[in-house]
Amino acid sequence: MIFARAESVCPVCLRVLPARKRSEPDGIYMDKTCPEHGDFSSLIWEGDLRSYLTWPVKNTAAEAPVDGKARDRGCPYDCGLCREHRTKGCCVLLELTRRCNLHCPVCFASAGAGAESDLSLAEIETQYDYLMAHGGPFNIQLSGGEPTVRDDLPAIIRLGREKGFPFFQLNTNGLRLAMEAGYAEELKAAGLNTVFLQFDGVTDAVFETLRGRPLLAEKEQAIVNCAAAGLGIVLVPVIAAGVNEDQVGAILRYGLEHMPAVRGIHFQPLSYFGRCALSRPDRPVTIPKMLRLLEDQTAGLLHASDFGGGGAENPYCSFHASYLRRSDGSLKPLKRRAEGGCCCVSSDDSRQSVASQWSGEAEEFALDGDLLDTSSLDTFLEHARLNTFAVSGMVFQDAWNLDLDRLRRCYICEMDSRRGMVPFCAYNLTDTEGRSLYRT
Ligand code: SF4
Ligand code: SF4
Ligand SMILES: [Zn+2]
Repeated sequence: MIFARAESVCPVCLRVLPARKRSEPDGIYMDKTCPEHGDFSSLIWEGDLRSYLTWPVKNTAAEAPVDGKARDRGCPYDCGLCREHRTKGCCVLLELTRRCNLHCPVCFASAGAGAESDLSLAEIETQYDYLMAHGGPFNIQLSGGEPTVRDDLPAIIRLGREKGFPFFQLNTNGLRLAMEAGYAEELKAAGLNTVFLQFDGVTDAVFETLRGRPLLAEKEQAIVNCAAAGLGIVLVPVIAAGVNEDQVGAILRYGLEHMPAVRGIHFQPLSYFGRCALSRPDRPVTIPKMLRLLEDQTAGLLHASDFGGGGAENPYCSFHASYLRRSDGSLKPLKRRAEGGCCCVSSDDSRQSVASQWSGEAEEFALDGDLLDTSSLDTFLEHARLNTFAVSGMVFQDAWNLDLDRLRRCYICEMDSRRGMVPFCAYNLTDTEGRSLYRT
C-alpha cells in the first residue's frame, strides 16, 4: 500500500525524482522511477506501518539558515546552505586532510590523497570566520581523512577555541592516539572535548573486512591513552549487513565495561556512498533493525522502546537513548530530552552546562536507590559523569534511500571553502559510478 509521497534522486544520474513510500508486511519501501534508468526500490524501515508512523519524534520548528543562498536548481543541488534549508546547523565537519594512515575498503570520504590536499591553517581560519558569520559558533567535528596525520592538529584546535568555538570533537581511527605517548594529553590541553573513535567490533575479523587489517589492540590502547588523559570517548561502530550485525551487543558491553572513559556508543549503519567495497544488500540495516539487534543481543539490558528519533534533525535520521548505570550494573533509561539527537555527545566540563543538562534528572538518580546526596552539586555531577551512558546512531542516506525532506532538515554540515556549509548527506552523495555532487 502506498501511504506517502516523497522526493528522492536516481542512483545512476542523481536527477530528482518523485518517490512513493509503500508499506509491505516485511517493511516500508521507497520506490521511484527514472525515465532513463528505470525503477528503484529501497527498504527504508524494517517494521510495519504503525511502527513507522508512531516512531517517537520531537520535531522542532523550522529554523532558517543565516544568510542562506537563493534557490537556483533546487534541493539537493543548491547546498551551501540555501534558503529552503530548515535548520541553521549545529555540528560542522572540517575535513582537515584527505590523507589517512589506513586505506579502509569502506570510507565515505574516499580518503587516500597526498599532503597537497590538506587545508592550510590560513584556509582553516577563513572557514572558522565564515562559520562565525553564518550562525556560529557551532560544534566542530575535526574530520578527514584522518585528522591526526596533521602535526598541527593541536594548533588548529587552539585557533578554533580562540575564535570562540566551544566544542571540539575528533573523528579518528585512533592509531596515533594509541601509538604516540603524550598525544592524547596534548590534544586535551589544546582544547579537545571528545574523541569519536572508529570502533567496528570486538574481533579483528571485523576490522580486517571494514578497515583492511586487524586493529583491536590499537583501539584498546587508544582508549587507555584517552582515559589517562581525561578525554571522553564515544565508540563509533559502522554496522554492515552480513559483517558485524552479530557484534552489536558485544560492542555495547565493551563500551559499558570501559565507562566512564567511554561515554557512549554512536552506531552508524553502513551507507553506500564514497569508497565502498561492499555491495548494497537488499535489506540494509535500518533503525528498527538496529534497535532489534541491540535488544536481542543484550539480554534485557536495554529495549527498543527506550529509543526515540532525533529532535533537531528529521526523526527518521537517527535514534538515541540515555541511561543511568545502576549499582547492580543494570541500565535505567533516562527521560528523552526534547532536543535530543545531536551527534555530539558533549563532554563539556563546564559546571553550568553540565548542571543544566542534568538538573532535570535529579529525580531519576534518586530513584536509583543509591545513597546519593543530590543536595550537593559536586556529588551529583560526579555521579552523573561516572554513571550515564548514551546510545545513539545515525542512518546516513545514500542515493537509493535519499529523502529530500530528511536532507532539508540536516543539521550536520561539511564545511566547503567554495560552497560554504553543505549538509553531510548531500556532500557525500555519490552515484553508482562514484561521482559526487559536491566533493571534488
Ligand atoms: S539540502 Fe538544504 S541547503 Fe542543500 S539544496 Fe537542499 S534545502 Fe538547500
Ligand atoms: S541528512 Fe544525513 S547527516 Fe543529515 S541528519 Fe539526516 S542522516 Fe544525518
Ligand atoms: Zn537516472
